[in-house]
Amino acid sequence: MTPSDIPQDPTAFAHWREAQDLRARSHLAGLYYLVAWLLVWMMSAEPTEHLVFGLAGTACFGSLLILRLAHRLPEQNTQALLQRWLNRQWTLILLGALAWGLALGWIIHSSEFEESRVIAIMATIAFSTASVYHLAMRRYLSMLLLPLLYAPGLLALLLDWHTQRGHFVALVAYLSYLVLALNRNRQMYRDHLALELKLLEQQQSLEQLSRTDSLTQLGNRYQFNSLFPVMVANAHRQSEPLSLVLLDIDFFKRINDEYGHTCGDACLSAFAERMREVFRRDSDALLRLGGEEFGVLMPNTPLEQARQLAESFRQELMQQGFNVQGNTLPLTASLGVGCFAPERDSSAEAFFKRVDDALYLAKDAGRNRLALA
Ligand code: GH3
Ligand code: MG
Ligand code: MG
Repeated sequence: MTPSDIPQDPTAFAHWREAQDLRARSHLAGLYYLVAWLLVWMMSAEPTEHLVFGLAGTACFGSLLILRLAHRLPEQNTQALLQRWLNRQWTLILLGALAWGLALGWIIHSSEFEESRVIAIMATIAFSTASVYHLAMRRYLSMLLLPLLYAPGLLALLLDWHTQRGHFVALVAYLSYLVLALNRNRQMYRDHLALELKLLEQQQSLEQLSRTDSLTQLGNRYQFNSLFPVMVANAHRQSEPLSLVLLDIDFFKRINDEYGHTCGDACLSAFAERMREVFRRDSDALLRLGGEEFGVLMPNTPLEQARQLAESFRQELMQQGFNVQGNTLPLTASLGVGCFAPERDSSAEAFFKRVDDALYLAKDAGRNRLALA
């Protein structure tokens, strides 16, 4: 399981976390039911006398064990699949508890199992304690486990009140402790989950921050590095045109030298704002690749369309410049534009280099122009 497989949506994450925990904490329980049943049966006075009963119990707990082991977590962590898995797993857990509860009731009721009664009661205490500590994720489902495990046995003890009242009172007292412990454990589970969700949220906002350039609020180089190869691969796979525009402000060093670094920063912000106005499609990725160099990744955009947009950006910039801190600054940019071509570009890097070379051609040819890769 890689971090990218973990659902990022809070509700889906909560389902995923519960499914992971429920699987880890409950998939062996079926084995314990089966072993406890075999012990109770074998330790009874005449196991061979109750062959049918013993085998029926073995078949029942054996099938529940197989069903649980076969119930694998979904391959994909979508909310719907996780919810379905949780519903089925809880059904299996409750069925196991019901089967054991009925077996306990019968063992207490039937005089033929007197020798193994203590084993059955001890096993019930162990199962219920384990449930309270490990399966406290849900308020009602977790609570339902207790009556399923205990009710038939308590009823059998009540029916034999004169000889069994000690056991009855002791079990009811223990049950009341279990209810309190269950509530506390459920709260602890909730708190833990809330903490994990908070961490997830913080991780997401840190991730977002680490991919955003703080001056221009465009994606940064790190964002470009992770986005670019994926977009190139998608374009290749789906045979769709992916265009890349690289922009470099001309003689930007002079702006800094003449008007100061703060003014230079304001120019960079204004440049980014202008980019947002021109490259408006939601799918366009606008990035600051470093210093005064910018990039636009345009999925599903043929070369000519990208060229037209980039050219209109260049001309507007040339005509309007920037009004920054009361100064109208003449500002131009040189641009390289290219469209990914699998037959020419052996890799994403090769594609980038082709467009970058075009940008340098534009610079060499006198700046304030656009060159096609
Ligand atoms: P060219 O036309 O060849 O691109 O010339 P240029 O001056 O734009 O290019 P050069 O690479 O020589 O200089 C880039 C300048 O950009 C130098 C640096 O001071 C400035 N710069 C880079 N990052 C920032 C920034 O975050 N803020 C400011 N104000 N200036 C920056
Ligand atoms: Mg420059
Ligand atoms: Mg530069």
